[in-house]
Amino acid sequence: MQIGYLPKTLRLVWTAARGWTSAWAGLLLLQGLLPAATVYLTRLLVDGLVKALNSQGSWESVQPVLFLALVVAMVVLLTEVIGSVSSWVGSAQAELIRDHFSALTHEKSVAVDLAFYESPEDHDRLARARDDLNSRPLALLESSGTLIQSAITLLAMGALLIPYGVWLPFALLVSTLPALFALIRFNNRYHQWWQRSTPERRRVQYYDTLLTDSAVAPELRLFNFGSHFQFAFQDLRKRLRKERLDLSKRQFLAQLGASVIGILISGIAVVWMVWQCLNGRVTLGDLALFYQAFNRGQGLMHSLLRNMGNIYSHTLFLGNMFEFLALKVQIEDPAIPAPVPILKKGIRFHQVKFRYPGTQPVILEDLNLTIPAGQIVAIMGPNGAGKSTLIKLLCRFYDPEAGCVKLDGTDIRKFSLEELRNQITVLFQWPIHYHLTAGQNIALSDLQAGAGPVEIQNAAQAAGVDEIIASLPQGYDTQLGRWFFSGTELSGGEWQRLALARAFLRKAQIMILDEPTSHLDSWAEADWFDRFRALANGRTVLIITHRFTIARRADIVHVMEDGRIVEPGAHDALLAPAGPYAQSWQRQNSRDVGKTSEPRIVGKGR
Ligand code: ADP
Repeated sequence: MQIGYLPKTLRLVWTAARGWTSAWAGLLLLQGLLPAATVYLTRLLVDGLVKALNSQGSWESVQPVLFLALVVAMVVLLTEVIGSVSSWVGSAQAELIRDHFSALTHEKSVAVDLAFYESPEDHDRLARARDDLNSRPLALLESSGTLIQSAITLLAMGALLIPYGVWLPFALLVSTLPALFALIRFNNRYHQWWQRSTPERRRVQYYDTLLTDSAVAPELRLFNFGSHFQFAFQDLRKRLRKERLDLSKRQFLAQLGASVIGILISGIAVVWMVWQCLNGRVTLGDLALFYQAFNRGQGLMHSLLRNMGNIYSHTLFLGNMFEFLALKVQIEDPAIPAPVPILKKGIRFHQVKFRYPGTQPVILEDLNLTIPAGQIVAIMGPNGAGKSTLIKLLCRFYDPEAGCVKLDGTDIRKFSLEELRNQITVLFQWPIHYHLTAGQNIALSDLQAGAGPVEIQNAAQAAGVDEIIASLPQGYDTQLGRWFFSGTELSGGEWQRLALARAFLRKAQIMILDEPTSHLDSWAEADWFDRFRALANGRTVLIITHRFTIARRADIVHVMEDGRIVEPGAHDALLAPAGPYAQSWQRQNSRDVGKTSEPRIVGKGR
């Protein structure tokens, strides 16, 4: 039940800001009672005035009126003061709550399986949760506050009205019921539309990013596809806008009808009360009280219903956030984790079968692969063969459907995730460009160890990026990227070397490099590998590469095709049989005669 999210939200609000929430509740009570006190005092004031006028303004009759006027002034002043205090308390509470909810969502987005980021439905869910996060909890709190305050005032006003006719509070209630129905209907429709249109709204956002993102800007200009996406954006927005405006039109008509009914009922009540006054059954003060109480009562009733509707709507929306927070993580630690061994035998993929969650194609099948401890193993193969997928399984971003991955004979599912990943350092194929300083870009891989400047410099040296960093305006303290003020942009190759330094910094026994030299020329590549071998120094290394320069220097080369290892061996041994490796080598060598760059393996791909 969606409304069940209300107590959940309030509990979170309480956890986030206990003190401010208590103050908020106290102020609400006062703010609820003060308007009724004002109305009651008005009646006394009007009756006092009439009496004073009847007694030709004698001091005895004027004195209480002056006193009452003073009290009314104090109450008005108090109302103002409380209003200001309450907005201060509200903004402090809002800041704390927003940060608390952000912390919860961030915690979850770091913990969820990698698969989460690859499913469009989950992306939709995260987009909705993030949309809602910024505004909904606070809006819910505000609506709940106004609801409670209006309810208190309304009860007090109702109590003031009862002496003039028991039916008056009921008339108040009935006059606002059509508005309530209109509201609930609209909220439901709006929420359905919002859920339904999430993919389109996300697409709109994506077009917007394409049109404004700095990384896209060069291609956008060269291929001149700006107007294409502008048009696509406008087109989708037009559809969404039309749907939204249709909803608003319906809402407007329903509200108009409801208001007319409300005005009719209050008109009847006012006429009846004026009639009573003309017949001398009530005083002028009573009439003033009635008018104020009924009029404000109706406003309050509307506010009450509006806020009920809002609360209902906010809880519908907050459902997305709670759904996201309740996501179950699939890749988990075992109950009693085994310690990760110092590798003596090596890494073994045993009869591994794997499909990406939610997709049909089998990516790896009956895959067997051994990476002996302390050796450098290269894996070659055409695009789409499943090489990068191997890395993801070894890091346990996913678990295999059948078979297992073992370290020295122990299934990696038996280790704690954190400990397992601590033993691995990876240069990913598309490393992230962190818009931080050059030093921070390297230090990120081992924040726990808290590497000092010397270690960072050594890693940079090993990756061949130290001279590049030294030539930057502030050396290791240079802000990189263009996101922030005075940032320096690097070339693709420089970013890759920086990422390599990041991978080197981490003192992990398993090192994985996915296309480590894709941005280097072959001259730099050969030099790079010699230095790398010295650096690897007994670590177990898995290199995914297209370059024979690298493959032929590795201890073992595996050739992978269609999710299987087809040829294991050393470079020279692999050249003997007429397998894909030898063929590729020959084909590429003959085609590339005279070229300086190294041949790349070619394959059929997928
Ligand atoms: P390689 O590294 O050998 O080029 P990958 O391991 O990246 O190949 O990809 C192997 C196959 O898995 C490809 O067909 C690719 O389309 C598919 N694939 C890769 N990542 C995903 C993913 N996140 N979801 C679904 N399919 C994927």
